[in-house]
Amino acid sequence: MALDRFGRNINYLRISLTDRCNLRCVYCMPEDMTFRPRAELMQDDEVLRLVRIFADLGFHKFRLTGGEPTVRANIVDLVREMAATPGVAKVAMTTNGLLLDRLAQPMAAAGLKRVNISIDTLDPDKFKKLTRWGEVEDVWRGIRAAEAAGLEIKLNAVVVRNYNDREDVVDLARLTLYQPWQVRYIEMMPFGEISDFQLAGVVTQAEIHQTIEAALGPLLPVNPGELDGEASLYQLANAPGRVGFISSVSQPFCASCNRARLTADGRLRLCLLREKEVDLLHPMRDGATDAELLAIIKEGIWWKPWGHGLSQDVIPLNRVMSEIGG
Ligand code: SAM
Repeated sequence: MALDRFGRNINYLRISLTDRCNLRCVYCMPEDMTFRPRAELMQDDEVLRLVRIFADLGFHKFRLTGGEPTVRANIVDLVREMAATPGVAKVAMTTNGLLLDRLAQPMAAAGLKRVNISIDTLDPDKFKKLTRWGEVEDVWRGIRAAEAAGLEIKLNAVVVRNYNDREDVVDLARLTLYQPWQVRYIEMMPFGEISDFQLAGVVTQAEIHQTIEAALGPLLPVNPGELDGEASLYQLANAPGRVGFISSVSQPFCASCNRARLTADGRLRLCLLREKEVDLLHPMRDGATDAELLAIIKEGIWWKPWGHGLSQDVIPLNRVMSEIGG
């Protein structure tokens, strides 16, 4: 078991498999983003070795993210080997869905259980504006492929003022009237060189909630006071799906945080919104044994920050979101 000094049991690892992405979402990375040379990123055997060590330490849930995890070469084999690692109970993925039409089925067969698919609006023009070049129809094709493959599906939308904060949030919530999906609205968080844009465009849970209720009627709390992962859940009357809010900015959930993150360049990131990281890649390449890596990881987790400092204007500047993975 990996405990931090506040007594939190950290057992959920989110692994960024690459900093590259096939979109350039305005809230995630600058348009002229430069990516790291591949040699600086974890290789397959390094990822799998760390998964084994984290699983030995009591981590049981693993989420693959990026950049865009589906652009990583050998993704199906990586999922298969990860899912087969003793102690790994669940492998999930956060993806923009663009490549799911050909990858959903093989990844599900390899052991992937769930995909959280990012779709910020159903409007093709606004989708293109938000992602800088994406086609929303490609995401729909991916969602349908994920469904056909039997994957659990959640949809994620980051809400950005003047981009998708009005009818877009309503259209997404309306999906839950017909589909058993969870549609989650994510408050935009500030990172690095694009933090001014992000801070100016935050739309809070309260405002999104109000916009949805004005159009579709009351949102009824589901398990009030309890979070589903990081989301507080609601339901429109008689809806098979759920509406969730991930509100790290206005309603932080740091007390219940059970997560650690591994960046594509092999750093253990202990809080999404704090710069503190522990290098695992170089010790590994310098010949550290499993026991030595385990000790570095345990020590890092012990010092996991309590939570973010957004309310004191502390913003992480060393990476943008696409380099961490969410
Ligand atoms: N490419 C994949 C995707 O689109 O889902 C995975 C990586 S992406 C960094 C992971 C999640 O972070 C996505 O749901 C994305 O919308 C979200 N995200 C990106 N930038 C964000 C920001 N500034 N604030 C909040 N969420 C953000």
